[in-house]
Amino acid sequence: MNQEILNKASQLINYTNGKICNHCLGRKFSDCVEGNGNEDRGIKIRKALNLEPYTYNESDEDNKDEKCLICNDIFEDINSKVLDLVNEKIESIKLNFDTFVVGCKLAKEIVEKDHEISDEFDFDVEIIKKEVNREIGKLLEANLEQSVDFDREDVLVMVDFRRILKENIENPIKVRLQINPIFIEGRYKKLIRGIPQTKWPCRKCKGRGCEECNFTGKQYMESVEELLSETVLKHAQAYEAKFHGAGREDIDVRMLGTGRPFVLEIKEPKIRKINLDKISEEVAELAKGKTEYLNLKFTQRKRKAEIKVSSPETFKVYRALVKCEDSITEEDLDKLQSLNMIQQRTPIRVSHRRADKIREKEVKSIEAKFIDSKTFEMIIKTEGGLYIKELISSDEGRSRPSVSEVLNTEAICAELDVIEVGIK
Ligand SMILES: [Zn+2]
Ligand SMILES: [Zn+2]
Repeated sequence: MNQEILNKASQLINYTNGKICNHCLGRKFSDCVEGNGNEDRGIKIRKALNLEPYTYNESDEDNKDEKCLICNDIFEDINSKVLDLVNEKIESIKLNFDTFVVGCKLAKEIVEKDHEISDEFDFDVEIIKKEVNREIGKLLEANLEQSVDFDREDVLVMVDFRRILKENIENPIKVRLQINPIFIEGRYKKLIRGIPQTKWPCRKCKGRGCEECNFTGKQYMESVEELLSETVLKHAQAYEAKFHGAGREDIDVRMLGTGRPFVLEIKEPKIRKINLDKISEEVAELAKGKTEYLNLKFTQRKRKAEIKVSSPETFKVYRALVKCEDSITEEDLDKLQSLNMIQQRTPIRVSHRRADKIREKEVKSIEAKFIDSKTFEMIIKTEGGLYIKELISSDEGRSRPSVSEVLNTEAICAELDVIEVGIK
C-alpha cells in the first residue's frame, strides 16, 4: 500500500470520526488495495495505519452515532439477521426452488451518504447496493441448499432495508420472495366446437360473479386453457396461469391435425418440479373428447413471445364446409384456383378491436371436394392472418377476391377446422 493511498484512507477515517466499517472503507479502495473482499481490504488498511480494529456496537441500544457513517452497520445486520429472515420466509410459504438471485432496497440516506463520500474524495468504485447484494448472496449460498444463478433464477430474494434508520420499528428488515413463473410449451387440439381458447369472463359481471353466470364469473364453463391449467396449478400449488397461443381459432372452430402451439405460464409456483407425464395423464382423462395437449415440456420465457410472432413462414391449413346460395357444378370448383393474393379489409366482426386497414395475404393452395350442388368441402393452406370465413363470404366486399365472387353466388362457411398451424 503506497503512502498516497494510506494518506487518503487516513483522511477518510478522520472525516467519519473513525465511524466507517471495514466493508465501506475497503469498498472505497477496492480498485487499488489487494484483498479478499472489501471487509478484508478495510482490515488491512486499518492495520497499515496502526489503528484499532473496527468493532460493531454490541449493546442493544441503537445508537446511530456509534455506527458506520455510511451504512449504519448494515453488514452486521446482514450477518446477524438476514439468514433467519429468509429461512422463515421460505418455511412460511413452504417454497420449493433451486436457484435464486438477491436484490435489496436501501434507505435513501445510506445511498446518498455513500455517493456523497465518493464525490467528496473522488472515488470511482462500486456503489454500496452492489456490495450488499453480493454479501447477502454469499451468505445465502453458504447456508441454503439453493445456489445463485443469474440467468435462470427461480426466485428473487428481495431484502428491504429501507426502514433500518427509523426509530422504534419492530422488524425493520423485510424479506420478500419474488417467485418467477414456470413455462410449459406444447400443442393443443380442440376436438369439439363451442370452447374458447382462454378463460372468458362473464360479459355481464366482468368476472365478479352474478346470477347470469351462476356466480362462476365465467361466460363459458370450460376453455382450452382451463382444461389444462387447473391440473397444472394443483400440482404446482399455484393460483394463477396465463395461456399464450400461437394465434387462436374462433369458439365455433375446431383445432385438429397436429395441433396449435401454446405456452402456459404458471405464476408463483410453490413447486417447480412438477411431473409433466403425470399431469398429461390426468388431463387426458379430464379433457377426454374435448381437448388434447401434446408434447408438454418445460420451456423458457422467451418462447411465449416467439410462438406469437407471425412471420412469412407461418402458414395455416383449414378445412371448411361451404354452403352456397345457388347451385354449383363440380367444374365450378376449378375457379377456386384463381384465389391467390387476397386483399382483405379488417372484417366487420373484429373491427371493434382491430385497426381498420387492408392486408394482403396469400392463399398457398386450395383443394375442393364436391359434396352436393350447394355444398363442398375445401382444404385451404394460407399465409397466417387471413380470415377464412370472410374469404368465403366476401364480408360485404371487404375480401377480394373471395369464394362468393369467383363462384358468383353467396357462399358461407358452415363449419371450420384448423388442421395445421406452422410456426418457425
Ligand atoms: Zn459501513
Ligand atoms: Zn356474471
